Amino acid sequence: MSTTSNKRTNPDACPHAARCGGCQLQNMTYDRQLRWKQNLAEQMLGSFGRVEKIIGMDEPTHYRNKVQAAFGRTRDGRIISGVYQSGTHRIVPVDECMTEDRTADAIIADIRRMLPAFRVTVYDERNGTGFLRHVLVKRGFSTGEVMVVLVAATDRFPTKKPFVKALLEKHPEITTLVLNVNSKDTNLVLGEREIVLYGNGWIEDTLCGLTFRISPRSFYQINPIQTEKLYDLAISWAALDGESTVVDAYCGIGTIGLAASRKAGRVIGVELNRSAVKDAIANARRNGITNARFYAGDAGDFMRAMAEDGMKADVVFMDPPRAGSSVTFIESVATLQPKKVVYISCNPETQARDLAVFAAHGYRAMRIRPVDMFPWTKHVETVVLMSRVKD
Ligand code: SAH
Repeated sequence: MSTTSNKRTNPDACPHAARCGGCQLQNMTYDRQLRWKQNLAEQMLGSFGRVEKIIGMDEPTHYRNKVQAAFGRTRDGRIISGVYQSGTHRIVPVDECMTEDRTADAIIADIRRMLPAFRVTVYDERNGTGFLRHVLVKRGFSTGEVMVVLVAATDRFPTKKPFVKALLEKHPEITTLVLNVNSKDTNLVLGEREIVLYGNGWIEDTLCGLTFRISPRSFYQINPIQTEKLYDLAISWAALDGESTVVDAYCGIGTIGLAASRKAGRVIGVELNRSAVKDAIANARRNGITNARFYAGDAGDFMRAMAEDGMKADVVFMDPPRAGSSVTFIESVATLQPKKVVYISCNPETQARDLAVFAAHGYRAMRIRPVDMFPWTKHVETVVLMSRVKD
């Protein structure tokens, strides 16, 4: 692929791009995508300060460590696997995607080819018959561990033993295989029941020198190479002194807080999703980290309770979902009076709205920098360091 800056259009554009819709910037060379994202960040955040140069990828392909394929049939009965055409439930057959991990793509295509020989049927959404709905593959880029999740409508899988044996022979790199049962008429890919068919049911990966356990349903950043750069940047900007009290708000499975814990006195994490909080606690234990505590709850309510209890924080990391943060949260942060707030965002529009509220409470943006987490897509991730300028 060419990433030279004199080319404006991508000569190797993906043949599925128009129907798939996942990569909105598919027609641009990678250099041009980075300029496009830099411009967008400047438009949205430029009024708060200078936007530093976007951190791109050296190799912007096959970065996704989690790949999901829907299974179905064409009108003439052929089994296909791929992605849903955006906004529909029509499957676009895709075997290779330039953003997805190659091993994962190969496993999914081989599973599809194996199905007829093992009399495994695919699910039909229209009448709720058939077996296999989706295949999900997650790979730990640094450990090489591979998890395959077969999402099926029932747990009746008569050819299970020979199928599993054949798949493992073809792909010995698979370290665990899970059957997830999703019998509901739903848009959610994963159901609640899980049956481990091989291995221990989860994989591990390392990020910022720490080990994280990844189970079929747990959230994990999908571009680990850029995530490490993003967290390193956020943590270096916080300039922790070894004694600071650090809050990791919207902490997910605790990755940012745990990565920061070595340079902090203590870490307090808060997250709405209970199972993510459980993972965060397990991750702390797994890495022998004893100065981090994680709580389940709304970040805004939690911060208000901290403020009412007269607690103090030195640094607040926040990484809210696309909708951004809340006025309650920001006002409580202001009451806690941290010297620094590091705001990671996947939506510069809501981030700009929130920065204005922070500004009204005496927090000024000192540094702003985008990181490209999702090459070929229009998504822009930005980190903003704010300092308290008002006493
Ligand atoms: N910092 C984590 C996760 C960021 S994603 C990481 O990088 O891995 C945003 C997280 O915010 C999600 O885990 C979501 O469950 C959580 N969340 C959404 N609304 C919330 C709220 N009101 N209070 C606390 N957490 C919330």
